[in-house]
Amino acid sequence: TALLRMENVRKVYDTGVVQVEALRGVSLAVEEGDFVAITGPSGSGKSTLMHILGCLDVPSEGTYELGGTDVSRMSEADLALVRNRQIGFVFQQFNLLPSMTALRNVELPLVYAGVPSAERHERAREALTRVGLGERTDHRPGELSGGQQQRVSVARALVTNPTLILADEPTGNLDSVSTNDVLELFHDLHHAGRTIVLITHEPDVAQEARRVLRITDGLISDDTVATR
Ligand code: ADP
Ligand code: ADP
Repeated sequence: TALLRMENVRKVYDTGVVQVEALRGVSLAVEEGDFVAITGPSGSGKSTLMHILGCLDVPSEGTYELGGTDVSRMSEADLALVRNRQIGFVFQQFNLLPSMTALRNVELPLVYAGVPSAERHERAREALTRVGLGERTDHRPGELSGGQQQRVSVARALVTNPTLILADEPTGNLDSVSTNDVLELFHDLHHAGRTIVLITHEPDVAQEARRVLRITDGLISDDTVATR
């Protein structure tokens, strides 16, 4: 069954001077458990699509259903709840708090969710073990390599047990060794049944997904099963 379904999504930015049509009628469905990359050149609409998929913004027209619920006309407060409960975000810049240990960083989404501290520690430890950092729980981000920091942020994305993992240029700040390391982790999570949507402008990274959607000028221009 489709976990995500977009129908004819348009997104128009009104700058006051001109209107920019960033998405011009995007329809797509992502199956539960799939690993999908969205790729395309700069300015093609990837970030706009990522923001809508992640419930950070809503379409100007068209519908977006996540897990069977139409989220395209929800209020900001309701969208925030959907984000916290259903989506694990991974960003290019890691977005880890530098003064906190890896364990505390991974615990943060559970703090917001009101999970008691003993359970938080246990789940954060489990998530860090899952990404291969069970021995690094007390390290601060500055004491970890870029690849390790990104794995901490994947652990933070996993710890709430989200229905969707949404990764926005997750390898953009990584060298090739760490890039492979993080992509290996995504493969591993995919095989464990997770649904992953990966946004990247790098064709080689996109090819690591099972399915690759290409976006050009605000429209899906290509939809293929990866060749590798
Ligand atoms: P990508 O992530 O592929 O680079 P974006 O989604 O950022 O593409 O941008 C798609 C188009 O929408 C571009 O023409 C961009 O300039 C425009 N755009 C994006 N965000 C805004 C905004 N907040 N206001 C006005 N135009 C925007
Ligand atoms: P970039 O990939 O360009 O480095 P980021 O990954 O920092 O940018 O953020 C991408 C978008 O997601 C930004 O528009 C930002 O406002 C939003 N964002 C960043 N962190 C969070 C978060 N923890 N929760 C919700 N939205 C976020």
